[in-house]
Amino acid sequence: MRICRFDDNRLGVVTEKGIHDVTELLPQLPAWTYPLPVFDPLVENLPKLRSALEQQSKQSAPKPLKGVRLLSPVANPGKIIAAPVNYKKHLEEVLAQKELHHGNLINEIHRAGLFLKATSSLIGAGQRIELVHLDRRNDHEVELAVVIGKPARNVSAANALDHVAGYCIGLDITIRGPEERSFRKSPDTYTVLGPWLVTADELDDPSRLSFSIAVNGEIRQDANTDDLVLGVKELIELASSFYTLHPGDVILTGTPQGVGPVRPGDVLFARMDRIGEMRVEVVAAK
Ligand code: MN
Repeated sequence: MRICRFDDNRLGVVTEKGIHDVTELLPQLPAWTYPLPVFDPLVENLPKLRSALEQQSKQSAPKPLKGVRLLSPVANPGKIIAAPVNYKKHLEEVLAQKELHHGNLINEIHRAGLFLKATSSLIGAGQRIELVHLDRRNDHEVELAVVIGKPARNVSAANALDHVAGYCIGLDITIRGPEERSFRKSPDTYTVLGPWLVTADELDDPSRLSFSIAVNGEIRQDANTDDLVLGVKELIELASSFYTLHPGDVILTGTPQGVGPVRPGDVLFARMDRIGEMRVEVVAAK
């Protein structure tokens, strides 16, 4: 199943016919009061809502994808986890270019571990990337994004995929420079998730997905998740050995070679096997 959020926080199921609006099911989610949970209530309750989503989507007339503004399919992730230099050729390109490493010590992922991006950086494909610090290099990074579905703590790689709700395309927009990664990658709008969530039952093997990103029609990154240093299972094992993963937590699995600058006015077009494609506009922040 492909689940999206769009326009004024509406919920949709995407089929080949378009978007079926199923917003009227949202009141079935438990009503949370303060303090709010550390997980995403929709993702947490997806298994329970599943049959109602299927029923309701059949009764709802499809609307064309083109006419809607896609939001992040996960509204309230507790954390956005990201993997640095998780493709060997990307590690080589970072080490080779001063404007990428800025004298920072670049370790392979086994030594570097994972980092976090601010959840306030998250947008969907129909929103716009608003660049800040235009005097500095702002780069695109396209990645497979994993959305956790069930709590995970000290999960082995062998069982890791049982904890996945689904997958999206992720963009990890990055200011290059000497500061900590989390600081340079956390401005508002610097994480894009979309175009929708493809549930794990539809994508049983995330280890062989080809994907790409084009800037103004020119392909910049073109790779396959085959080449991940730590695959999805191993990333979940590593992350869950440090902290509990909660439903709705997002793991950006790392970007391949070919990172490059984006500027106001650029149009990004990202696609990934078995997930879909998305167009995202880049502007200057006001
Ligand atoms: Mn990245």
